[in-house]
Amino acid sequence: MRVRLAPSPTGKLHIGTARTALFNWLFAFHEKGQFLLRIEDTDKERSKTEFTTNILEGLEWLGINWTESPVLQSSQIQKHKDAIQLLLDRGLAYRCYATEEELEEMRSQQKAKGEAPRYDNRYRDLSAEEQSKFHQEGKTAVVRFRIDDLSVISWNDLIRGQINWHGEDLGGDMVIARRAPADEIGDPLYNLAVVVDDSSMEISHVIRGEDHIANTAKQILLYKALGLSIPIFAHTPLILNQEGKKLSKRDGVTSISEFKSMGYTSEALANYMTLLGWSVPEGMEERFTIQEVGSVFGFDRVNKAGAKFDWDKLNWLNSQVIHNLPPQSLLERLLPLWEKKGWKISSNEWGLDLVSLIGPSLTLLNDGIDQAFPFFETPPLLEDGKNQLQSENSSKALESLSKQLEVNPWDGYNTEFAKDILKTAAESIDIKKGVLMKSLRASLLGTLNGPDLITSWGLLARIGKDRERLLSNI
Ligand code: GLU
Repeated sequence: MRVRLAPSPTGKLHIGTARTALFNWLFAFHEKGQFLLRIEDTDKERSKTEFTTNILEGLEWLGINWTESPVLQSSQIQKHKDAIQLLLDRGLAYRCYATEEELEEMRSQQKAKGEAPRYDNRYRDLSAEEQSKFHQEGKTAVVRFRIDDLSVISWNDLIRGQINWHGEDLGGDMVIARRAPADEIGDPLYNLAVVVDDSSMEISHVIRGEDHIANTAKQILLYKALGLSIPIFAHTPLILNQEGKKLSKRDGVTSISEFKSMGYTSEALANYMTLLGWSVPEGMEERFTIQEVGSVFGFDRVNKAGAKFDWDKLNWLNSQVIHNLPPQSLLERLLPLWEKKGWKISSNEWGLDLVSLIGPSLTLLNDGIDQAFPFFETPPLLEDGKNQLQSENSSKALESLSKQLEVNPWDGYNTEFAKDILKTAAESIDIKKGVLMKSLRASLLGTLNGPDLITSWGLLARIGKDRERLLSNI
């Protein structure tokens, strides 16, 4: 059992491609098969090595590992050309000399008659004399593969069941090599290249998006014409936006690296992508690792209908993953974000305590920047904090606390000590402890909302930042 992902490096790793990769990987995992990669880099203008790097890094990040080195499609061109030559030799393909203008005119005539555009196979049966005449005139030609309008192409799709496609719906004889001088073979095109490559990579199952169904019909004809064995096909549902249309760049974030830089975890994203099209068996939770889902994965639970992208669900999964990370591992994920801000933790232990404090309120890893801000830099004073600090008794309360701290400095480790000192400071000037705590919170964190006060105070006390903030707000 060998499956593959065949991305074109013409953009960053798209969530649709990543989901296709994941379904291939899960199927291979379940069947103890192999998952391979082929980089379809034959579009010389649009293919870029930086995109190949982005795709490979994205897959690795998601935990989608592959076997064997990725095959570069551009390195297989001779094989593609040999296959085209074979089809020409067998009379199953021919040179078509139609010029662009000629094709354009044909299409506009079809349009005027209300017909769907298709190539009318006009160069299919040229005599040897006609061919040599075009040749001598120095005309260029594409190579077309004959498609019999009357053929019916059928396959048993692992997701969609029996599919029947009619030859007449494939748009006429198909171009398999780009325009070139008539004694050469031009650059091979997608459908031909895919068939040759999947065959030489011994791919047993082709799993890809449903937008490739018509290509599959064409490819099956090519497998037959080349005498190659036909793989099994599975066409996965598309990922849709809120309007029910295919998710595209216009919908905002679509590439895996963008999700990563927003602060989504690879675990939540892989989990969520699986749920975009696959439904969990009864009794299984919707939160899982890819290894867990791999052990029960099958196409019987993949839906035929497109799957709507749901940000709320992804966010929920992400928060669940973050809340369940061991503190050390959450710290390791937050450190690079903090480092970018120039923030350093005073010790690993202090970092772990900070992470345990803010972790439960994070939905995205990047929320860990805002939430950690007051522990690295002086926080801005927000409206509610300002009102509190200006309220009656606020300065008095902070002053009293500051006096107590002068006598008994707190190193920040003992919560009981903090509670006692707050009590004494409040009682000594006869105000409510609640008022003092609110003012303390406003002076330390700039707002009345936020994480546990005593723990926050303790963290600041340990790096010697509590007194200065207290004093500056008296
Ligand atoms: N390069 C094609 C794509 O990215 C591959 C499709 C296929 O899996 O055959 O859509």
